[in-house]
This record gives sequence, C-alpha cells and structure tokens, in this order.
Amino acid sequence: MMELRFACQPGCTRCCQTRGFVYLTEDDLSRAAAFTGMTREAFEARYVIRFRNVLRFRKPLEGQCHFLTASGCSIHPVKPVQCRVYPFWPELVEDVKAWREEAKRCPGIGKGPLVQIGSAMETASEMKRAYPSFYGDDG
Ligand code: SF4
Ligand code: SF4
Repeated sequence: MMELRFACQPGCTRCCQTRGFVYLTEDDLSRAAAFTGMTREAFEARYVIRFRNVLRFRKPLEGQCHFLTASGCSIHPVKPVQCRVYPFWPELVEDVKAWREEAKRCPGIGKGPLVQIGSAMETASEMKRAYPSFYGDDG
C-alpha cells in the first residue's frame, strides 16, 4: 500500500530551481496577469510562450523562472496549477517508485502528516484537467 507523506519545507525553493518548464492554463495566465497589474496581452508577450494549445513561461537567462525571488515565488497566490499541486502530480502519486525517487528532489516528500491517497489522487486529477494534452486526453 502506498503511503504518502508531504510537508513543504519552509524556505525551500528547490522545485522552482529544478530544470524544466512551467506550463500554464488560460486561467493561470489571466490570474497571473491580473495579480501583476498587467493586461493579459502584455503579460503573455513578456512572460509566456504559446504553442498550438500549450502555454509555458519563458525562462530567464539565468535560473528557471522569472517569478522566483530570494523570498520565494512572487506570484504565489496565483501560481500555475503545476506549481500549486506539486508534488501531487499523476506521474508521481500513481507510481510508488517515482514518488520515492522524487524525494531526492523535494525534501518535503516523506515528511509531515499522512496524506489520504484519495485526496492525493483528487489533487492529481486537477493536473489532468489543467493540462489534458500531457495526459492523453486532449480530444
Ligand atoms: S521542493 Fe518540495 S519542499 Fe521544497 S519548495 Fe518544492 S514542494 Fe516545497
Ligand atoms: S511560478 Fe512560482 S512556484 Fe512556479 S516555478 Fe515560478 S517561482 Fe516557482
């Protein structure tokens, strides 16, 4: 039986520094633009790359994300779904080996209270709804 424990560690920003892309939903884009006081169009032009049906943040020349500051995520209340639900991503909560392996990157995995598997799966399903093209459900 898979046992999940997780507690994000104060002051940690390792997941924001991990190499990779931050993908957005259209709603993420609207919320982040409003939060930063920019129009959607201006925010997208400055921070986002749009492919056919996929949006992702541009990367700064150094580092992984424009919004990572010394004190953490500068758009924390409106950060994209993938940031908000990490590490409860389908590919991690559905695979015990992958979850344990991820603990090498995320020091919060294995700490804190037990997380009900049902609630972890529900959180993970938010990823599938937010990024259907990554989870084989884009119609
Ligand atoms: S790597 Fe894990 S513990 Fe660190 S900020 Fe990200 S979720 Fe929290
Ligand atoms: S948007 Fe915020 S939480 Fe997501 S990678 Fe950037 S700094 Fe980290």
